[in-house]
This record gives sequence, structure tokens and C-alpha cells, in this order.
Amino acid sequence: MKGANFVMHAAKGEIFDVDFEKVLSDYKLYRERFSFGGMEYNKAGPTINDNCVGCGMCYKACSFKAIEPDGDKYKVNTNRCDDCGDCQLVCKFDAIDESKEF
Ligand code: SF4
Ligand code: SF4
Repeated sequence: MKGANFVMHAAKGEIFDVDFEKVLSDYKLYRERFSFGGMEYNKAGPTINDNCVGCGMCYKACSFKAIEPDGDKYKVNTNRCDDCGDCQLVCKFDAIDESKEF
């Protein structure tokens, strides 16, 4: 066979770009998920739930700068989160739910 065509009807994927030297930006990871053809996916990273009391411990613990203020609470920026789990280790209020499968 000399040639072949490859057609993809549906897929999901992730762009994962790390800059550990922080040369190019003030954060070290850019992450973006995408899909086409009707496929669905979950966003990256854990989710901060209603138990959050806004203590800021997760914000201080996240070396990826992926936790941001959200009013008097906090939220995870899924485009910067590495899923390292450090925020869950420091939260004393059971306010950070596990990441879902891709
Ligand atoms: S450590 Fe827990 S309670 Fe404190 S701000 Fe983060 S999610 Fe909220
Ligand atoms: S899992 Fe890691 S990178 Fe993601 S928000 Fe928590 S501490 Fe930051």
C-alpha cells in the first residue's frame, strides 16, 4: 500500500506546556483541554466547594499559582493547575474535591 488516509471523527486532547524556569511567564504551566466531534471532557484540576471559608492556605501552598481569589473565597484556574494535590493537603475544611477523570 503506497498511501493511506487517516480520518478522525471525534477526539479529545490536552495541551500541556511547562516553563519551570518561569522565563516566559509568571506561572510555570499552561494547560488546555479540547475536544471535537461531540466528545466531552472534564476540566483539569480539583474543585473548591462550598465548604471553603476563604482561609487562603491553598492559595499560599500552590506553587503553580493556580489558585485565585474569588470574592471572599478561592477558585482553581484549570489552565495553570498541575494536579499536584498540595492544595488538598493543606485544606482543613474538606473544601477541595478531587480532580475528575479526563
Ligand atoms: S484551604 Fe480550603 S478553606 Fe482555605 S481557602 Fe483553600 S479551599 Fe478554602
Ligand atoms: S492541585 Fe496543585 S497545582 Fe492544582 S491548584 Fe492544587 S496546589 Fe495548585
